[in-house]
Amino acid sequence: MRVELINTGNELLLGTVLNTHLNFLGEELFQLGLRIQAQSTIPDGQEIHRAVADAAARADLLIITGGLGPTRDDLTRDIVAELAQMPLEIQQSIVDHLEEYFQSRGYQLRENVKRQAQVPRGATVLENRWGTAPGLYLHPTSGPLQGKHLFLLPGPPRELRPMYEACVKPILQEIYEPPEDRDITVLRMVGVGESEVEHQLVPLLQDLPELELGFCSRPGEVDVRLIGSQEVVKQAREIAEQELHEYIFTTTDQELHEAVVELLINLDQKVVTVESCTGGLLANRLTNVPGSSKVFLQGYVTYSNEAKCATLEVPKEYISGYGAVSKETARAMAEKARRLNKADYALATTGIAGPSGGTEEKPVGTVYIALSTQGRRTMINKYRFPTDRETFKFTTTQRALDMLRRALHGLPQSRR
Ligand code: ATP
Repeated sequence: MRVELINTGNELLLGTVLNTHLNFLGEELFQLGLRIQAQSTIPDGQEIHRAVADAAARADLLIITGGLGPTRDDLTRDIVAELAQMPLEIQQSIVDHLEEYFQSRGYQLRENVKRQAQVPRGATVLENRWGTAPGLYLHPTSGPLQGKHLFLLPGPPRELRPMYEACVKPILQEIYEPPEDRDITVLRMVGVGESEVEHQLVPLLQDLPELELGFCSRPGEVDVRLIGSQEVVKQAREIAEQELHEYIFTTTDQELHEAVVELLINLDQKVVTVESCTGGLLANRLTNVPGSSKVFLQGYVTYSNEAKCATLEVPKEYISGYGAVSKETARAMAEKARRLNKADYALATTGIAGPSGGTEEKPVGTVYIALSTQGRRTMINKYRFPTDRETFKFTTTQRALDMLRRALHGLPQSRR
């Protein structure tokens, strides 16, 4: 089934709004075994006529987002109804819903809003729980769109996403049955680069028949996608796991911080964080996970030198001698924080996010991460992530979480 996506909206082309529908729908459809083969972003208004006619000549399934609102340039419904030869009719139940929606909020229902109650004859209405414009599913039986499947979805992501889950997905599952012997696995890895993963895996997997191997690199993470028959994916996965097992933190859609909190909970281990350059992001990520209160004891953000000395008793001589960004300071921060809290683990970060503050010896992007472990030698890794501040902070937390993950699994610490 060939799938195409059309996103309408001047704001997308002006660059004021990021097109997140492609990202969301691409991932969701992929999980159902479908793929978006082409996508176009077009302005509001008449342009949609040409875009739908063109795409429908190629695609079996067409998803069109935006342009369902009440204003004059919201023409998606009208144009698609015309092309589909399904005349628009007012549906009273939608008018009632609109009246109730506006009344409950104390707004006046203007005449133009009632356009949203127009439904192409024979179309399925997709309920909009978070807005006024319902979505529509059309499967025309005549005309240029005959036999095509068309979904018209609202622009705002907070409306489109729940509508996809509640209404679109069940219809897709009904109209499309993925080939039975087909499997997808994603191995998510941390602590290793994309080129290294490719270098190791390609020679081992290249002879597996019709295996589609994909790599996706993100800050501090590499995903490897394996697609093919169930047998081939199983074999590929076994080989990849054997070769790269120490880097793989999940084969589900879990994030690294979620995997680490799950491990801490399962092993009944407690952690504290003491952060300088990451400014609390590490604590934030850990506490984003439900149940983290069982394992996360405290997070310090000791950003200034004074705070490091006063709160964690980092000796002043360390700061003046080795520097705030040094393995000695990182170690002192982690060890003190762990002892103060009687925790099993403490993670400390101290680095130079930039853009200023670097020296020849410690250039911008230098960071030390210390992991203090009850009854073990403290591990300190030095990295360099010369990038923007936000990516620097995130990548540092990825490495810190990976150090803890490795410790919890009993794996050796990697310094890649
Ligand atoms: P409304 O009833 O809100 O007018 P609509 O279906 O007509 O709904 P649009 O007017 O096209 O939707 O878009 C409304 C808003 O939704 C846009 O201003 C934008 O903020 C957001 N939006 C639209 N399309 C996208 C997209 N592809 N990705 C992210 N946000 C989007």
